[in-house]
Parts: sequence; structure tokens; C-alpha cells
Amino acid sequence: MKAAILGATGLVGQRFVELLNDHEWFEVSTLTGSERSIGAEYGEAVNWRMESKLKEEIADLIVQPTDPKKVDADVVFSALPADQALQSEEDFAREGFPVVSNASSHRMDADVPLMNPEANFTHLSLIDEQRRRRKWDGAIVTNPNCTTAVLTLPLKPISTQFGLRNVVMSSMQAASGAGYPGVASLDIIDNVIPFINGEEEKVQRETQKILGEPGESAGFNVSASCHRVSVIDGHTEAIFIQTGKPTYPEEVERCMAEFSAEPQKLKLPTAPSRPVIVKSEQDRPQPRFDRNEGRGMSVVVGRVRVDPVFSGVKFVALGHNTIRGAAGCAVLIAESMKAQGYL
Ligand code: NAP
Repeated sequence: MKAAILGATGLVGQRFVELLNDHEWFEVSTLTGSERSIGAEYGEAVNWRMESKLKEEIADLIVQPTDPKKVDADVVFSALPADQALQSEEDFAREGFPVVSNASSHRMDADVPLMNPEANFTHLSLIDEQRRRRKWDGAIVTNPNCTTAVLTLPLKPISTQFGLRNVVMSSMQAASGAGYPGVASLDIIDNVIPFINGEEEKVQRETQKILGEPGESAGFNVSASCHRVSVIDGHTEAIFIQTGKPTYPEEVERCMAEFSAEPQKLKLPTAPSRPVIVKSEQDRPQPRFDRNEGRGMSVVVGRVRVDPVFSGVKFVALGHNTIRGAAGCAVLIAESMKAQGYL
């Protein structure tokens, strides 16, 4: 299937290019950028920040405007800034394109699936309502904010087995989460920035949408405190939870380690064999060592222990913010759509 990437020169766009390289179902057909890049060869326009080499045939593609008439694709991946995504993604859906978006613009629309596929595979059914309501043949499906993607994967099996009442999360987020060039080096080196605009509200509402039934918010409370730290890739999160039924750390560890969902059963190409990996070492997970587990698609959890305030459990989780938290999650969504007949 032909795949277009909107905003292909940015950090998430580059990660899409890398993940679709040699993908068994999708092949990059069109790359778009802003006025700055339109008309240039991709290899010239992009400041390639991935560790893998950019393929020559991709480098030679001419960057196109973000216009449905200039795009030839069976699926469209959007890595546009939110203000651009708002109108552009609707234009593409109206022209019949299925759009899988990283941007926040449509995440909370009632008829738009907000998907972390292992956590809420069945939410794809909202596409039917979206097509009916909006009278278009295309679709908009969104992935979560990067911090929410990391949080909801370990929460899902806990929520299923024990129920959730309260979740408190404090993040240590990588610099690449702010895009490229992102935070100025003089602001982030030797420093922690205790504010990321809009992030805490996104984590709180997106977590409830993902872990609720399609179209309904989950009934537990979420409180988030988000911080930018001097790490290139990989968001670390300290998570404190009160469950509905009483439980203890070993039981929670087991349910996370055994967690497997539809993407694993269907053997989707980007699905990691284990969505949540539990480490027993007392000093893990760490971004430098653990962010690439499951090719960046697994969330690594450690230090599962009793939380004396909630009489619940607390643990540390880590996930790759531009793979599970962005492009990788979107590719897994597109694979899930294909498996469900939406592509
Ligand atoms: P970025 O590095 O700043 O890249 C932005 C991209 O959008 C560039 O390709 C840029 O093209 C393009 N663009 C800007 N204005 C445009 C316009 N008017 N028309 C068409 N293209 C335009 O940002 P990013 O980190 O890749 O993030 C992309 C999106 O994903 C954002 O919505 C972000 O919130 C979301 N997201 C990011 C992460 C993360 O970890 N970084 C995680 C989850 C979600 P030019 O280079 O040609 O100007």
C-alpha cells in the first residue's frame, strides 16, 4: 500500500520514514513539508537526525505541498504541527484518505478514535460513526500524546484485572518530545524544566478516553506532573496507582508481563511480542539502555512496589517517545485498520 507522510521533515516525520523503510505492507509514496521545503529533494530539505542511513530513493523524492490533490496514497500519516493538522487532516479525510495522525487537534473529537492499539483495539469502530456523521469516505484516527502512550500500556492490564480508582504520574520527558530543534541546548543541558505547555491536561483526558469504552471516559482520576529533562529519546514516568480491588506488587508485575492483545494475536508487523516488559533489576528502566526494547514499541517497567499512601502499587515506566509515543504507534494503528478492513 502507498503511504504518504505529512510533515515528513520533522522528527516524527523522519521516524515514519525510518519505520516504513522495508515495511512489509507500506511503501512511502509522497512526502510533504512547509513552504520552506516544498519543491526541494527530501535529502536536501531534511536535517536527518535518525541513526539509520536515509535511503537514496527516499532522499530523491521531491517534497510536496500538504494538499490532497498532490498526494498519491492508500494511507496518510500526519506529523503536522497541531495548528496545521486541524484543517489539513479534515481536507484529506473529505477527499477519501484514511489519515493516522500524531497531532493533538482531533484526539478528543467524540467520533475520532484515539488509539494505543493494545489498550483499545475496539475503538476503531468509531470510524463508522465518523463516516456517517461527517459524510466522508476517508477517516481520521489519532495516536496519543507521547507521555500518554507510555502510561496507558502498563495501565491497561491493571485496569482490566483490578480496576483503577486513582492514577498519579510524574514524568521525566526527553528533549526530542519537543520536535526539532526543540528546546534550546542552553535551556536543557544541566537542567530540568518543570513545565510543558498543555501536556498535563492532555495526559489526564487522553488516558481516560483510551481506557474507557468507545465514546465514554474511564471512571478513574488521573493527575499528571510533566517535566522536560536532558535526555535525547525516551520518556520515564513514575506512576502511583490505587486499584479497585486490592492487589500486591507481584500480582501487578505478573499481569503486566503476561499482557498480550489483538496486535500480538494478529501478529501485526510493528507489534512487539511483549507490549510491557518487566525488569527485576532495582536500577531499571533507564532511557539509554531500555528505550529500544521491542524495536522501541515496548514499554519497560521496573521497581514495582507497595505505595503506602494509596495502599496500592507504584512503579517506573519508560517508553520511546518518537516510536511507541508517535510514529511507531501510528504505523501499528494503520496495521490494525488494515486487519479490521478499514484500509
Ligand atoms: P517538528 O520536528 O517541529 O516537525 C514539524 C513538521 O511539520 C516539519 O516537517 C515541518 O516542515 C512541517 N510543517 C510545519 N508547518 C507546516 C505547514 N504549514 N504545512 C506543512 N507542513 C508543515 O515536530 P515533530 O516533533 O515532528 O512533531 C510533529 C507532530 O507530532 C506535532 O503535532 C507533535 O505535537 C506531534 N508529536 C510529537 C511527538 C514527539 O515525541 N516529538 C510525539 C507525539 C506527537 P518543514 O521542515 O518543511 O518546515
